[in-house]
Amino acid sequence: MDTDIQSLTHGKISQLFPHQEELISAITAKLWDGARLIVVNAPPGTGKSVVAIAIAPSGTLISTSTVHLQNQYAGYGLPVLKGRSWYECSLVPNITAEDAPCAYSQMDCLASCAYKRARAAAVSSKVTVINNSLLWVEAAYQTPLIARRSVLIADEAHKLLDDVVKSAGIEIPKRAFSTLVNNYWPPTDSDAIREWARKVMPTVRAATQAVYRKGQLRLAAVGRRLLFTLSSITRYAGWQFIPGDDSVMIIPTDGSALIKEILTRFKIVAMSACITDDFVRTHWGIDNFEYIETRCYYPPQIRPIIFLPATAIDRNATAEDYDRLAEAVCNLIRLNPSKRGVVHTVSAHLTHELAARLGNTDIAGRIVIGIGKERIKAFSRFTAIPDAVLVGPSFSEGVDFAGDLARFQVVAKIPFPDKTDPRIAHYSHGQYMSATISAFIQMYGRGVRSPDDFCVTYVVDSNFRMIRRFLPEWVKEAVVSHQ
Ligand code: SF4
Repeated sequence: MDTDIQSLTHGKISQLFPHQEELISAITAKLWDGARLIVVNAPPGTGKSVVAIAIAPSGTLISTSTVHLQNQYAGYGLPVLKGRSWYECSLVPNITAEDAPCAYSQMDCLASCAYKRARAAAVSSKVTVINNSLLWVEAAYQTPLIARRSVLIADEAHKLLDDVVKSAGIEIPKRAFSTLVNNYWPPTDSDAIREWARKVMPTVRAATQAVYRKGQLRLAAVGRRLLFTLSSITRYAGWQFIPGDDSVMIIPTDGSALIKEILTRFKIVAMSACITDDFVRTHWGIDNFEYIETRCYYPPQIRPIIFLPATAIDRNATAEDYDRLAEAVCNLIRLNPSKRGVVHTVSAHLTHELAARLGNTDIAGRIVIGIGKERIKAFSRFTAIPDAVLVGPSFSEGVDFAGDLARFQVVAKIPFPDKTDPRIAHYSHGQYMSATISAFIQMYGRGVRSPDDFCVTYVVDSNFRMIRRFLPEWVKEAVVSHQ
């Protein structure tokens, strides 16, 4: 195993920290012992991507959930293969490889094609980075990229199952679905859906080609996605069809079967700050694995969690509950003048309720609401104002609030998964709790990104009591208020 980290990271990292060397030795020893699955719970600050690069033998895929982390690997000089929509087609102007003719028929195309070049580099490289969704597609189609690999390092491994389930299943507008299946609707009975998938595939294939020829590129791309789901249905058991008012969903009922399928192809090193042994047992349905939990190398003093229960917001919350929450959040913002902060709200609804109330206070000028498509613009506005407070539901992953970007964050609501989502509805209590803990740790980890950083996390949702005792030790040790 080559641990010349300077050459492996193209000069970006000059040497490993002792804790990284220790972790590398522990993982490689288990790999050499023949372990098929090694789960590594490593808190923020471990430098997991550097560890991943150091342990990766020739023939490794590194898979991530977010573009942010892919870019980090790209910064270390590793080739990254993204989905087709990331590459411009050089044959047809103004379209991406997603909508290019080669997606619908064999083409002997230009050597200058960016997509082809990226694929060729990914296939020939000893270590390649892809995302979890693409991983599932490549594995299902047994592409040359997969065929030569024997080790998978799943970074952000707590997202692997969700991403693979999303990639295998589909949610599409009802009208598009109806057009593509020519009104041959699937049964809701999970046994009969496989037979339906077999029968409907030629229809969908023909409809996809037809709409592509008519120039309906978006619908054709949906047709290709649907064909992929149909082919997965014919190969793996356990699917459900969920018709909604505007859209339909076809999703695997048991995503753990897909994870087990990946495990048959690779030795897996699953790394995350938010993955625990309990998570792997309850979500992935796997008992036989090696588990490594490291301590946090950021002292708890620079990442305190202060629990100040104000209220618990649930679907029955009243206007008074929202008032109480807004008052608590407002007081914490006042307590941190001249500092940037983040308020994690979990849902669009809660964001609107808070925005309406905070907008009538003396701190209104500091509030930046980041929601839906406005999220990215809001983030850039937030970074330009020295005492801004970003309020939104989706800043708990894929974004770093290092240094002055956030000196405080407020958890307005514990991130319990949404039980109305059919993918969540069948969770057992254990799965539900471990998913919640994983999401909370993800949120908590946003604020402190280096040993000389500092960020206090205030938790105002009294439901924190329900999850506190299940948190990993490195999180528990940071809780300085014990109400
Ligand atoms: S292979 Fe050809 S058609 Fe396909 S994206 Fe590249 S240039 Fe376009």
